[in-house]
Amino acid sequence: MKETTAAKIGFSSLNLDPQILRAVEEEGYTEPTPIQAQAIPHVLAGRDLMAMAQTGTGKTAAFTLPLLQRLLPHASTSASPARHPIRALILAPTRELAIQVEKSVETYSRHMLLRSTVVFGGVDIKSQKPALMKGVEILVATPGRLLDHVESKNLMLNQVQVLILDEADRMLDMGFMPDLKRILTLLPKQRQTLLFSATFSDDIKKLAHDFLVGPVTVEAERRNTAAENVKQSVLLVDQDDKQDVLAGLIRARGVSQVLVFTRTKLAAARLARSLDRSGIPTDAIHGDKSQLERIKALDAFKEGKIAVLVATDVAARGLDIDQLPLVVNYELPYTAEDYVHRIGRTGRAGASGEAISLVDGKEDRLLKEIEKLLKREFPRAPATAPSVPRAPRSHRPATVSSGKKHAPADDWFLKPYEPAADSTTTVEQPPPPKDKPKKQVAALLSGKR
Ligand code: AMP
Repeated sequence: MKETTAAKIGFSSLNLDPQILRAVEEEGYTEPTPIQAQAIPHVLAGRDLMAMAQTGTGKTAAFTLPLLQRLLPHASTSASPARHPIRALILAPTRELAIQVEKSVETYSRHMLLRSTVVFGGVDIKSQKPALMKGVEILVATPGRLLDHVESKNLMLNQVQVLILDEADRMLDMGFMPDLKRILTLLPKQRQTLLFSATFSDDIKKLAHDFLVGPVTVEAERRNTAAENVKQSVLLVDQDDKQDVLAGLIRARGVSQVLVFTRTKLAAARLARSLDRSGIPTDAIHGDKSQLERIKALDAFKEGKIAVLVATDVAARGLDIDQLPLVVNYELPYTAEDYVHRIGRTGRAGASGEAISLVDGKEDRLLKEIEKLLKREFPRAPATAPSVPRAPRSHRPATVSSGKKHAPADDWFLKPYEPAADSTTTVEQPPPPKDKPKKQVAALLSGKR
């Protein structure tokens, strides 16, 4: 069974409890998004579900609202942990997405007596134990850390009634399949499973085959399409000029929030440092930053304390920033699907947005793959770095210079890259797909960054 269209309906016709509707109303939602309108009735009916929806479509509420409704009979004032077993498990690929999903669960359940918590790697496992020990109905987790807790006997999954796989495509990209399979063995066979994914690759279909029983398929967006309310453009720029072009763009448009994507942690760190030094308040989030640093950077960005956030694909997963007007692809991603994810950061929930890709000649192959996936061609507009006359270094104000290949004034740029102790590579997960010729990848990696 497959549905592609959603009738215009109000939340009130969805058979949700007034406690849930009240929270939805307080969030200012007036009507369900298409994925919500399609998914909610099936989830309420207890069906397994395979939903194709990108971040920004309202997918979190699409599974959380009916989940809360289904768990409502288990709401309890009891302080006893035994009365609060884990009844719903939501798996997410990254810490950021897990945190964000749990925040949504808290928001939508704020008038209900249901408990939730989130567990993810990169922080002390002991700090997560007390909440688990008290008992929670809804657990949001990244797969690896969930298994750590299982091993430490901090939780039991034998009463899980609903399993939700959020951004399942990304979980597979990140190599979580073995963890997912192990988790599956710990869950009751009799349960409801919901799978959300931005793309429906053959691997996802295989995963669905293993995890779901007779699922209904719903689709908010057409297969592998980018949000239609995002204006997309391509500027041809030499790699060496990208930073100046980017700084020029940011200044010319006066935008207060720009999310910039690079492929590697090193590129993200360097670009953020350079922009910040040139007077554009910038920070970076990538896999070498501690969880605390990432949360701080994200909060500063949301609060408008920094104008630019430079991110790698993995670190940016699940970021939900309201009204983000501009996304810049400083480097194109290795996989075309990641382009769809990246630009899904803008134009969320119906707002309009813009995505600009700065493309060097060497990235033409990656651009063509994106065009193939989206079934459209982008006009290639040449861009030149703004020619700002350069003051002598000692007198130079805090602006972006237009000069090429000048020696960096900051010693930091001269130091070899120093990843955090737990990191051995500067390339973020997921690695480039295996079908890409090695040579091309090596050429891209051995660039300036
Ligand atoms: P998501 O796709 O779950 O990441 O949600 C993207 C954004 O849409 C979030 O900021 C939600 O708060 C918002 N949102 C979710 N559902 C609705 C709705 N029915 N109406 C308006 N905004 C919504």
